[in-house]
Amino acid sequence: MNDCIFCKIIAGEIPAEKIYEDEQTLAFLDLHPVNIGHTLVMPKVHFENLYDTPDEVLAHIAPVIKKLAVAIKKALKADGINIEMNNDSVAGQLVFHTHIHIVPRIEGDGFTHWRGARPYNEGEMAVTREKIQEELR
Ligand code: 5GP
Ligand code: ZN
Repeated sequence: MNDCIFCKIIAGEIPAEKIYEDEQTLAFLDLHPVNIGHTLVMPKVHFENLYDTPDEVLAHIAPVIKKLAVAIKKALKADGINIEMNNDSVAGQLVFHTHIHIVPRIEGDGFTHWRGARPYNEGEMAVTREKIQEELR
């Protein structure tokens, strides 16, 4: 695993602007921010993405995300915050070490998302719900 750039940052082999650290978690500024203050939060242990990250790890990280989001919003006088996680290449994942993006949003910043949203066709919504519920059984 240890071509992983985030593992190298966690190990202190590559510098980063760290903003939060505890036993299990590290958060630092993204090198190419969508907006100033764009932050990445991650477990120190290497997992690829959401699918293989244990529930306990996610449970630990959730309140850290909240705490950092509140601090970032205040510190940077942001108007809002997006929390995002990319899983798999098709979803935009570039670094395969579990991480969550905290993106401060500024009124009029022009960052758009959910482009391509469309209404369901007739009957498609119920079929979709059934497919997902089947998987949960
Ligand atoms: P992903 O697309 O995998 O969800 O996001 C990876 C993020 O990591 C990108 O936003 C990218 O700018 C950031 N990134 C990649 N390499 C480095 C690095 O060496 N240092 C920092 N601070 N951020 C990085
Ligand atoms: Zn890693």
